[in-house]
Amino acid sequence: MLLKRSLLSTKLLFCAAILCTSATSAATITDTDKAQLDQLKNTVLVSDDSYNIIESLTTEVGARMVGTSAEKQSVEWAVAKMKSLGFDKVWVEPVATKLWQRGDLTIKLTSPYPHPLVGLALGGSIGTNGKELNAQVIQFDDLEALKAAKEGSLEGKIAFISYRMERHIDGHGYGQAVGARAAGAAVAAQKGAIAYVMRSVGTDTNRIAHTGGMRYQDGVEKIPAIAISNPDADLLMNQLKRGQPVEMSLNLSAKPNDKAQVRSYNVIGDLTGSEKPNEYVTLGAHLDSWDVGTGAIDDGIGVGMMLSTVHHLAQLPKRPKRTVRVILFAAEEIGLFGARAYAHQHKGDMSQHVIGAEWDFGNGAIYKLTPGVGPSALNSIREFANILAPMGVALDENNDAKGQSDMSALGKEGMPAINFDPDGSDYFDYHHTENDTLDKVDQQALRKNTAIYTMFTYFAAQADVDFRQ
Ligand code: ZN
Ligand code: ZN
Repeated sequence: MLLKRSLLSTKLLFCAAILCTSATSAATITDTDKAQLDQLKNTVLVSDDSYNIIESLTTEVGARMVGTSAEKQSVEWAVAKMKSLGFDKVWVEPVATKLWQRGDLTIKLTSPYPHPLVGLALGGSIGTNGKELNAQVIQFDDLEALKAAKEGSLEGKIAFISYRMERHIDGHGYGQAVGARAAGAAVAAQKGAIAYVMRSVGTDTNRIAHTGGMRYQDGVEKIPAIAISNPDADLLMNQLKRGQPVEMSLNLSAKPNDKAQVRSYNVIGDLTGSEKPNEYVTLGAHLDSWDVGTGAIDDGIGVGMMLSTVHHLAQLPKRPKRTVRVILFAAEEIGLFGARAYAHQHKGDMSQHVIGAEWDFGNGAIYKLTPGVGPSALNSIREFANILAPMGVALDENNDAKGQSDMSALGKEGMPAINFDPDGSDYFDYHHTENDTLDKVDQQALRKNTAIYTMFTYFAAQADVDFRQ
């Protein structure tokens, strides 16, 4: 996931949703719709549809990194699954993306004693051209400290950032840590380093590494970029504390190829509305994953929840008024390629996208919703929040949501958004690791979260509200 969160704001204002409703505003949720929302809640809370979809994706396709045959297969899987679940229109739209091959990595300490380390190349990293690099490790507390190093001071050295991500319920420790993953290699190269190694962006204490996207800078030499496991980073720190030079060797056969254009696809499905077919309540998740796990939580859960939501709505005796559109985005992990392609291709009909919600944050139970709608529409959101309140979901009245993950690209084009925030305390134990597998899915939270998305989608498709106003 890419976090674009309003949660970093220190002036969060929660309110007991029931107290926030203006007594003078007209109700926008009819009694019939309230009864329908209640029935949907009761149905989805005991349904295993989301889990079964995630099980199908992770078992029949598995990992689906951009450019692999499994990614192509995931597109076919998604088209077939959407059709079987009751979408009445399903199609794909092409996305031009970049190819990167992970290759093999050997990374080890060579001094003070030989010891193998556990690491993963960061997505986009170059390799070592068949050579083994061996050099002294120079440690920095964080990206800012690396930036402050003198030009040329890392000539022939390996730069190492030891910053450890903090665990928080809203996952904001990720935002504080991820800059070193994205930009660390370019900054290290500017100072003369021959390779860049960082402590994984993750909250676990397992001997596994967390991959994730990085980028080089034009005009700056490209050097290999690698994340090592938290316990290995701890070992390195303890050795460095002793004041003896620490040396490391690495050999990496990763292959980026910026020139090769790889074609991927956004997979899109509609449940056509009964009264306003040209207005889209838009739901998103990303179909691609990293290669090391099976992408169950990132973002198989999102795929499962969005498809299951439409499956439940498709079984109602009458279709909701507005069209419900699910977009399974391509190539999110390497930089929102699918989302940007969709926003570009749909510039002309973006005004018909009435509101959007994404899911790309694992599956702790949802405890908060944050809208990003026009001031008049906020009353209607308050009414809906009152219905969710007994499920332990609070309304964040800041009303400043911009759209999570892929949806941020549509938010930039003016689409109103709603963000649902789960307990993300353990999400970054598994994120982008070999441990992102089906067994990590919390089925009880998944049922609750799917119920909330299904209820939101029905509400948004039925409400006679312009969420931009
Ligand atoms: Zn994700
Ligand atoms: Zn991710």
